[in-house]
Amino acid sequence: MKILMCASEVVPFAKTGGLADVAGALPLALEEAGQDVIIAMPRYKCITDNKFSIKRLKNDISYSVIGKNIKTYFIENDAYFNRDNLYGEKTGDYPDNLDRFSYYCTRTLQLMKEINFKPDIIHCHDWQSCLAMVYLKTKYVKDPFFKNTRTILTIHNIGYQGLFPKDQFPKLGIDWSYFNMEYLEFYDQVNLLKGGMVFADIINTVSPTYAKEIQSKEFGFGLEGVLNKRKKDVFGILNGIDYSIWNPETDKIIAKNFSAKEPKGKAVAKEDLQKLCKFPLRKDVPLIGLISRLAEQKGFDLIAEDMEQICKMDLQFVLLGTGDQKYHILLEDIVKRYPKVVSLHLKFDDALAHKIYAGSDIFLMPSRYEPCGLGQLIALRYGTIPLVFKTGGLADTVNKDNGFIFDKYNKEELLKTIKDAVKSFGNSKKWSGLVKKAMEHDFSWEGSAAKYLGLYEKAKTKK
Ligand code: ADP
Repeated sequence: MKILMCASEVVPFAKTGGLADVAGALPLALEEAGQDVIIAMPRYKCITDNKFSIKRLKNDISYSVIGKNIKTYFIENDAYFNRDNLYGEKTGDYPDNLDRFSYYCTRTLQLMKEINFKPDIIHCHDWQSCLAMVYLKTKYVKDPFFKNTRTILTIHNIGYQGLFPKDQFPKLGIDWSYFNMEYLEFYDQVNLLKGGMVFADIINTVSPTYAKEIQSKEFGFGLEGVLNKRKKDVFGILNGIDYSIWNPETDKIIAKNFSAKEPKGKAVAKEDLQKLCKFPLRKDVPLIGLISRLAEQKGFDLIAEDMEQICKMDLQFVLLGTGDQKYHILLEDIVKRYPKVVSLHLKFDDALAHKIYAGSDIFLMPSRYEPCGLGQLIALRYGTIPLVFKTGGLADTVNKDNGFIFDKYNKEELLKTIKDAVKSFGNSKKWSGLVKKAMEHDFSWEGSAAKYLGLYEKAKTKK
């Protein structure tokens, strides 16, 4: 099958979240399974010739190869993409995001003709690439080149929809009749994700539980009705993790490698992390790790309320993340008062993330909602026991046998579950068993890629 992957961020080129991990790893697994895959993404400022081996195809198109021979095409446009960030500044989204991603989708479809790549499947991710599907079913609907092309939309987080003022609609170059409740209109605004959901042949999201949740009012962010209408075409496939990057047996960043069979290195990784955090070097104290966007979605409203109490417990707590200023301020205040308990790293730092996954005992991820979540999967792989709220992909991957889970979203339950985890850590024999079991899970991409291939086949049967 010829597959075009459309994603606005792809590992190793640009990443702000889990979408990039998926868009980078799924193509590799598909290629392994014998598929012909290419990727198209914008060329941001961070994609430099120094960092990557980049070849030029055209004036405005360059590419780099990942896997054995997966060409990642970069759509270039300095005015739109040569900026410090992908989607916006601290103060808010770039005001011309509709122009930027409309351009990306338009140029990507043109490129398919120029390189004569007739995709069987265009696999789009999130609102940024939804216009590719909208254009395919409007501007290109009669174009023989795309006659056999079918589409699939993966929703990584329905909370981000690509909403724009109505007066920007004409820039899309499609008829005003599509600015209608049945199509892209959403409370008098343009909603690009909704456009994708209407036009995609198949819709999926990144865990079976989240696929169900987003069809409800509580989790659907206003789009539950659109999904309900398409119920038969909505699926959930868990993300895998890239084992060439996230593998404690081969990880070059961590202090010592380890595995379920040879777990001793984990203690060395813990000591290394304690040194880095300037914590007392104690084996008997549980070290809690957290790596996340600092956003309410990730459970920070609860963490903020419990923080003082957490710090009074006999534990160590390392946090890595960036996000909402209010949480930056709150955490900076806490670390001043509890420097031996809390180590705070307000930045995006891949290397440090590896060290935290490897060196922590418990991984805290009490997200209010979580489409799939990669953090808990990586943590399990590194024998770091996840503590999560029962929602979305967390509910699909963590249970009482491999972690700690609470099912009422409030600060009391979170605190109680942390206390339970700390207590369990005290029983070192039982804990070692838990760690071993966690590390034996298989969340490789192979299985997920096979499921995606199943969805592609299903899409191909659509008229
Ligand atoms: P989301 O995509 O909603 O942010 P996921 O759990 O699906 O959440 O994926 C987040 C990914 O980004 C994980 O791989 C996590 O390790 C990584 N990550 C998040 N914040 C940071 C950070 N500050 N530094 C390094 N890696 C981070």
